[in-house]
Amino acid sequence: MKIAEIHVYSHDLPVKNGPYTMANAEVWALDTTLVKLVADNGLIGWGETCPVGPTYAEAHAAGARAALALMAEDLVGAEVSVLGLHRRMDSLLNGHNYAKAAIDIAAHDLLGKNFGISVSKLMGGAAVDKVPSYYATGVGAPDDIARLAADKLAEGYQRLQIKVGGRPVELDIETIRKVWEVIRGSGMRLAVDGNRGWTTRDALRVSRECPEIPFVMEQPCNTIEDMQKIRPQVSHPIYMDENSTSLNTVVTAAGTGLVDGFGMKVTRIGGLQPMRAFRDVCEARNLPHTCDDSWGGDIIAAACTHIGATVRPDLLEGVWLAAPYIDGHYDPENGIRIEAGHINVPTGPGLGVVPDETRFGGPVASF
Ligand SMILES: [Mg+2]
Repeated sequence: MKIAEIHVYSHDLPVKNGPYTMANAEVWALDTTLVKLVADNGLIGWGETCPVGPTYAEAHAAGARAALALMAEDLVGAEVSVLGLHRRMDSLLNGHNYAKAAIDIAAHDLLGKNFGISVSKLMGGAAVDKVPSYYATGVGAPDDIARLAADKLAEGYQRLQIKVGGRPVELDIETIRKVWEVIRGSGMRLAVDGNRGWTTRDALRVSRECPEIPFVMEQPCNTIEDMQKIRPQVSHPIYMDENSTSLNTVVTAAGTGLVDGFGMKVTRIGGLQPMRAFRDVCEARNLPHTCDDSWGGDIIAAACTHIGATVRPDLLEGVWLAAPYIDGHYDPENGIRIEAGHINVPTGPGLGVVPDETRFGGPVASF
């Protein structure tokens, strides 16, 4: 099976009840990029990549499409083999994992459809038929976030991530305390995500002032050097998110004991093929992690759910989706939904999601 055509689409995803606020960004609408691979046997595979604005990561929507345009001509005619496609893409363009991920996801969708199996089966097999999700609040007033925590607990979420940073750290500490008062004893786990926004001074202070609250500190500061600096001084587990930009970084962070786990994004690391290797490194080191993406619709959501389902269940911290912030679905019937804090794993074939492509208008580029 060879790639016969590549079509690239741009689609606007307004943020429901926006904006969505993080330490370094406030977003009202996201510009997602979809890739349709048409194989020479007529099968179709879909991929997607959607940076959550231009400041969350070293990625932006127009950059994804420029990178895809640079590679696409040379991918037409290529065999749909995931490893082969990655090597070919790497020979055409250095880096830009988030753009390559859209091709990788579409290739997995195609292969699954070709073999008549789901993407999770293709990646080693689902361990569960539904995966836990977790809810991420934006940065907000302590009382508002505590109220949201109560709502999400009632909805059935087993894990909550609260966003902090980009404001006086006293407000972050107050938020953590108020949320903990609400969820204490419920079994709901707590992650505090700095999105690179704290100084090492802030991170040390939070850990020192909240020693009795068992939260995970996710990407508190901007750099790996910052994490190395605070690591021996904090009493809370540290997870790496934004800094884990490649499999190489992950292997070093896991191998040197720099972190206790990861928040991981499928597109940041380059797609489902590197994600599979990441999953296996974490299992070898007993490191919990999430399987998420920064944003995106049903295609990204399906990819995250499929890989999440293959993770050893006690290591899966959850699959975060942007679905609660998006109105409607690409696939009205089989779109990926969170119900009572959990997501049913699509049964396939491929991603198990068939978008209504009339929603995307005409392609912005075809090869
Ligand atoms: Mg994060």
